Amino acid sequence: MNAAIIGAGIAGIAASIRLAVRGYSVDVFEANTYPGGKLSSFDQNGYRFDAGPSLFTMPHLVDELFRLAGRNPQDYFSYIRLDETCRYFWDDGTHLTAWANHDAFGREVAEKLGEPAEHLHAHLQDSARKFDVTEKLFLHRSLHKASTWLNRDALRGYWHLPRLGVFGTMNGANERRFRNPKLVQLFNRYATYNGSDPYQTPALMNIIPHLEYNIGAFFPKEGMIGITNSLVKLAEDLGVRFYYNTRVTEVMTEGKRVVELRVEHRGQTTSLSLPPAPGPLLFDVVISNMDVVNTFRKLLPNARQPERILKQPKSSSGLIFYWGIRQTFPQLGLHNIFFSNDYKTEFDYLFRRHELYHDPTIYLNITSKHKPDDAPPGCENWFILLNAPNNTGQDWDAIIAEARQNVIRKLSHNLAVDIAPLIETEAILDPRSIEFKTSSSQGALYGNSSNNRFAAFLRHANFSREFDNLYFVGGSVHPGGGIPLCLLSAKIATEIIP
Ligand code: FAD
Repeated sequence: MNAAIIGAGIAGIAASIRLAVRGYSVDVFEANTYPGGKLSSFDQNGYRFDAGPSLFTMPHLVDELFRLAGRNPQDYFSYIRLDETCRYFWDDGTHLTAWANHDAFGREVAEKLGEPAEHLHAHLQDSARKFDVTEKLFLHRSLHKASTWLNRDALRGYWHLPRLGVFGTMNGANERRFRNPKLVQLFNRYATYNGSDPYQTPALMNIIPHLEYNIGAFFPKEGMIGITNSLVKLAEDLGVRFYYNTRVTEVMTEGKRVVELRVEHRGQTTSLSLPPAPGPLLFDVVISNMDVVNTFRKLLPNARQPERILKQPKSSSGLIFYWGIRQTFPQLGLHNIFFSNDYKTEFDYLFRRHELYHDPTIYLNITSKHKPDDAPPGCENWFILLNAPNNTGQDWDAIIAEARQNVIRKLSHNLAVDIAPLIETEAILDPRSIEFKTSSSQGALYGNSSNNRFAAFLRHANFSREFDNLYFVGGSVHPGGGIPLCLLSAKIATEIIP
């Protein structure tokens, strides 16, 4: 049996491994010259930067792929569990460290914010309980198969439904839980882990902190790119063939089957033919890891378009500054957040006005804290992420210029030093370039937004209803974006394949 995969994003790579383990002969076609899509990295003037994701959670989903293939994960990939998950900063001088140890974190919130530690413990327990109910129901199965809704886990889910937080907002639940608005803000930020707005997204999204605080936050010893590299190595060891610089330009169909892929390789268009069933097929199965909107719009323009799903509002995007900084900052850790003074207005700007607020929340990631060779001696590699509206044709050059000034001003204030002269190298990624580099609709980081309670049902299924041998994986389809969910999409899709 043969399978073709369109795109070597993390979900495409994971799907290739799962199919190879099942004995498929697998070809992966990737438009870029490198694998990983958003999960890639680059070097610049002596600095190394992870280009996209910086927070690694649920590492067991990566390990699972090595075990599935009968390999020892440690032979390919290693990571550490972080003692401290994040350092938080507010402009009024408040600093807070989120420790992995719940008691230490509880003491910190009591001491710095006057919030009883029990409130924190109750929140994290509630997060674990919600996750436990929803994981089996939503995350490991297709929502689009009757069997998902008619088993024991589903019945348990219905029973817990009123307490899952489907009906209120995340912000509403967090305001009821915590006294101190800073802690509300801290936990509201988890909405951004799937590109949503805490003032709109359902309280059910309070399952997200469970990943970071109860399961843990991790750091791959080679940086985030270690995830991509080790999984590509595993796939290649299993016989998967990767064709880089090879863009799929059209999916040809006949009746209820995909029969042919058109690909463009270094400017040359070739046709990989799939004879129609029941004859021998070159590819028995095609999996698209390309954003589902563009899979339909660009590769299948003549097929029926699932408009309702394709037209859903997209998640937020990101504006990233990669800065080589010629100084070290002991007060900073691997993950750092500098909060906006008006979080509500920041999200109004992002989701209603589709603009960037002048006082944005800044996420600063510094891998050289754990991997010193990512920066020259005495320097640090700063990855600065601002949540940004998705691309609707804004004047990005003007937005970037203004945002750069605002970031420099805010960080300089918080770190009590002028940052501007310390920047010795710079690269920028914005919603336009995210869209261009990974074919993500509107440059959204996580496909459709999860700003309403039906969001899970408004993502495309992991299979096509129209074509029997076409499947979908990646951040734009069920169960959603982010590395763990992308890995699960590969599991769900390949388990559906007969
Ligand atoms: P993508 O990474 O979107 O890749 C799709 C691939 O398909 C690309 O390589 C593209 O070139 C290829 N492709 C598309 N069309 C074609 C075609 N026609 N022919 C051939 N190839 C094609 N997640 C986390 O878990 N933690 C984080 O901290 C985090 N932070 C993030 C920060 C940033 C700045 C970004 C951009 C993302 C972040 N994410 C994070 C989200 C995470 O990166 C994504 O959800 C995930 O990597 C998406 O993987 P994917 O499999 O959907 O494929």
